[in-house]
This record gives sequence, structure tokens and C-alpha cells, in this order.
Amino acid sequence: MTDAKNDDARRVPAGKSRVWNYHPALPISMSPVFDLPPKPRAALSWLLGTWLRLTPPVSHMFFAVMAYAFLWPAMPAMQEFSWGWIAQICAINFGATVLLASALHLYLFVYSQQDMRLKFDIRPMEKSPRFTFSNQTWDNIFWTLVSGVPIWSAWMVLYFWVGANGWVPTMGSISAAPFWFVAFFFIIRFWQSFHFYWIHRLIHIPWLFKNVHHLHHRNISVGPWSGLAMHPGEHLLYYSGILIHFVLPSHPLHVIFHMFALNLGAVYSHSGFDKVLVRNRETIKAGSFHHQLHHKYFECNYGSEEIPLDRWFGSFHDGTEAATTYIRARKKRLAAKG
Ligand SMILES: [Zn+2]
Ligand SMILES: [Zn+2]
Repeated sequence: MTDAKNDDARRVPAGKSRVWNYHPALPISMSPVFDLPPKPRAALSWLLGTWLRLTPPVSHMFFAVMAYAFLWPAMPAMQEFSWGWIAQICAINFGATVLLASALHLYLFVYSQQDMRLKFDIRPMEKSPRFTFSNQTWDNIFWTLVSGVPIWSAWMVLYFWVGANGWVPTMGSISAAPFWFVAFFFIIRFWQSFHFYWIHRLIHIPWLFKNVHHLHHRNISVGPWSGLAMHPGEHLLYYSGILIHFVLPSHPLHVIFHMFALNLGAVYSHSGFDKVLVRNRETIKAGSFHHQLHHKYFECNYGSEEIPLDRWFGSFHDGTEAATTYIRARKKRLAAKG
């Protein structure tokens, strides 16, 4: 089902369908980095291509560099717990989240600057009693700002306190290990995908799904604020990807970039639109159809495009109707197992 010949036969061009207002070309592609036999040229072009056009990782890097260069507390100041630097980190995180999520929400949903063009799901944001305040947007803003940003900030405060005291391996300067400095940004991207897959599978265990992850899955059609609308238990796990920096030597910029990628990345990936159009021109890749399929069909695409873990473990939905039939059968099998 996954070889190139079959993919050619099943190819569906990007556009509208019975199910979607817009879908990208199907079957959706994954990163070629883990393809067998290896495709080094395709892998390299995929890895570098991300940085050569306006993509969410470029945006995360911009936010991270700005925050680190102009706003971040100095390392020595973070050796002692004090409300000053803790509040400073909280304010930066709060500001970055509100800035990006509000900008995308206002542009795409309130002022509808690209109408329905490139929007995956036909439905608008919902007003339904299944949401807190019976309103999807307010529900999403509430869980993002009241639980998401504080828990995200708490993980960062913990890391920087420990890092400033030298209790974990840190990189004092870039010139000490320039190769590692660059390489780690690439590693972070794969680590994020790997970590997300496993914590996501964990919270799909029925008890955890019912009591924790269900809150995020109330969103079927999603918007920028939906990405971080999670239960506090899920936030705690989601941001625990930071633990890699307690083990591997990290520069503050690695940590800030990684944490911004987790937070702002979810804002982009749940934007509900494949790309943002400015004056009809594609400006930035935004939504993830891979994850949009997860919100529609639940028991598929637990990971992300970087590592094909879903393909390896039989839960990959590539967007085609054949995949929908396969995933529905899988869901029935899982339900029968209880
Ligand atoms: Zn989601
Ligand atoms: Zn899920």
C-alpha cells in the first residue's frame, strides 16, 4: 500500500472532496529521511528546504532569536528563584502565544481574509455545549492561557534554574561546539516528533483519553487557539520533551527554539488552513493535514510528518478513502479489545 507504484495509482490532486473543503495532494507525503532504500538527496533537500522558505520552524526561530537576544533574563540572574525573572519568562511566553494565535485567528476566522480558500474543514468555529463556555473559541483561549502557558513556562523556569546553576550539561558559547550547535536544531525536530508520538499514544489509552485527552479532541474542526486547548495533564506531558535538554548539552537558544516549536507549532498546525494567503499569494505553510486527519478520525496519525512512526505501527492515514476504510476497521478492532 505504500510503494511508489501504488501511490501513483491512488494519487488525488489537491482540491475539494466529499469530505473536505480543501485537501492537499493525496496521499499525503511524509519526510523522506527514513525512506528505504535511503534517498540521501531527497532527505537533504527536505531537511534544508524547511529553512529556505517561510515555514513554521523559521517563524519559531525568529521568535526564539528575538526573545533570547532582547528579552530573556541573563543566566546568572536565574540561579536563584525570584519572581522577577520568572515573571519575565511568563510574560514573554504569554506575549508570543497571544500574538501569534490572535493574529492567525483574526486574519483567518474573524476578518476571513482568505475566505474558505485552503481551509480543510467546511465548518466554522463552533458554539456547542460540549465546550467550556459553550463556545469553541473562548474554550480554546481559556485552556491555552490558563493551563497551557503557565505549565509551559513552569517547565522553562525549571530548566533555566537548573541550567543556570550548572546542574545539567549546557553550552557556554556557540564557538565551543559550532557543529553540535547547528546539528542539535535538526535533532530537536525529530525528537519533538518522536516524543509527541509516544505521549500521544499514551493518552489514547481509553482511561487517559476519557479523563485527559478528550478535552483536546472536542475540537474536530480546528482553529489557531485549538492547538494548545488541552487538559493540564496533557500539557504536563506535552512539554516534557524539554527533558532532552537535561541530558544533552544545550545552548539557551536550543531550549527556547524547542519550546517555541512545541507551543507556536501547535498554533500553526491547528490553524485549520493549509497555508496563509496574503493578496492571493501563499505566504506561510500553516496547518497540518496529517494532524487534521487525527482530529477527524481519532485513531490514526498520532505522530507527525518528520518520522513515519504511524506508518511503521499501522496507524497512518494518508488522506485517501482507502485509508479511511482501513482506519475505521482499525478503530472497530481497538474498540472490541476494550
Ligand atoms: Zn490536535
Ligand atoms: Zn489525539
